[in-house]
Amino acid sequence: MSKIQAIRGMNDILPEQSLTWHYLERIFQQVVKKFGYQEIRFPVLEQTQLFKRSIGEVTDIVEKEMYSFDDRNGDNLSLRPEGTAGCVRAADQHGLLYNQQQRLWYQGPMFRHERPQKGRYRQFHQFGIEAFGMVGPDIDAEVIQLSAELWRELDLLKYLNLEINNIGSASDRKAYGAALTAFLSARTEQLDDDARRRLHTNPMRVLDSKNPQVQEALTGAPVLQDYVNEDSKSHYQALCSILDALGISYSENSRLVRGLDYYNNCVFEWTTDQLGAQGAVCGGGRYDGLVKQLGGRETPAAGFAIGIERIVLMLDSLEKVPAEELRPIDVYILAVGEGLSAQTLQLAADLRARYPGLGVISHCGGGKYNSQIKRAFACGARVAVILEQEDGSAAPPQNARLRRLDDSGAVLTLEIAQIPEQMGDFLENSGI
Ligand code: ATP
Ligand code: MG
Repeated sequence: MSKIQAIRGMNDILPEQSLTWHYLERIFQQVVKKFGYQEIRFPVLEQTQLFKRSIGEVTDIVEKEMYSFDDRNGDNLSLRPEGTAGCVRAADQHGLLYNQQQRLWYQGPMFRHERPQKGRYRQFHQFGIEAFGMVGPDIDAEVIQLSAELWRELDLLKYLNLEINNIGSASDRKAYGAALTAFLSARTEQLDDDARRRLHTNPMRVLDSKNPQVQEALTGAPVLQDYVNEDSKSHYQALCSILDALGISYSENSRLVRGLDYYNNCVFEWTTDQLGAQGAVCGGGRYDGLVKQLGGRETPAAGFAIGIERIVLMLDSLEKVPAEELRPIDVYILAVGEGLSAQTLQLAADLRARYPGLGVISHCGGGKYNSQIKRAFACGARVAVILEQEDGSAAPPQNARLRRLDDSGAVLTLEIAQIPEQMGDFLENSGI
């Protein structure tokens, strides 16, 4: 029978890879905690309408990329393609938004039917934060500051660039979109199919077309900044001066528009040249209209989402994960002889109790010394503890050997009762 394979673009994360994920998840959780953000969890499945109303009917995500289906009741549901819509839905449904300030974070899988390639998958994962109830621009700056702090903690800051833009209000963009449509309508022969289709539905998306010919057609096009209202402008300028004062460097990119309709005023993206074509690792901005658009009361909001796979790729290729994080286990206890199970398992328990955080595997299943020590090496342990009965004896051993599994190969023989106490020093110093 043929074996069933995973769905294209949906990855298994294997034990070895998950060490990098754990490290990243831990650092992210430490950073959001330091900033006072609290976790919110919401379903991966929502009413399709939620995403249509928030992300926008004529965005790529909703038009082409959602996994949608009718369930057995005939409700049209979709796997979430991003987190903000579900976060707003959940926070509003449980009364967290009205007249309150909230700093929330989430993490989890997202689903988009895109063309899979390095850094672009159909199931991928995001960390996100959302801040509700603050009109900014200080909260915009905090959201960016938090992302910068994460990169600093991960030692990735020097590989990342921050781009920002002011996209004004929804009505500014409507006026601007009309001007852009008029401009491009006179140049349709230079546009590709995608751009021609967007011309009347979502003209601003033409701005970030990757087709050089389309970019050429945009020369001399009206610029959004000329359509942005004064309030947005001063908000944006205030944000820039806070970023300047905080020493967070950025470049202004007037073509940064983002692929989700709910954004307004300040938007930003962190990009890298370390990942080839998939250079965006984090995107965010303000979305003051979204809560109301989804039926809640008007609530100012800002947030971002980070692509976890892309950060994992960077951490691995730049070797930024500390070595001790990549070691799945520290100590492997061998038991060579009959009837040693209880003694071995007890020693493992004593070691774990004495050294919180130490990983201890107690060999199970018996076997000869050689096959057991091979497993100790294979699992990446630093030290093997060898409990071995004397030939012909049925009594439990009194002593055991500690053996470093590194080049030093240092060995120390100790009374078993002393092992928990001595293990710390033995792990530290190979020179015995
Ligand atoms: P891109 O321009 O790469 O398509 P996007 O603008 O669609 O990104 P957002 O919707 O803003 O991305 O999501 C935030 C982050 O999630 C992105 O910056 C990226 O790191 C990550 N991301 C988005 N789509 C994917 C995907 N299909 N696979 C892996 N990561 C993704
Ligand atoms: Mg995309």
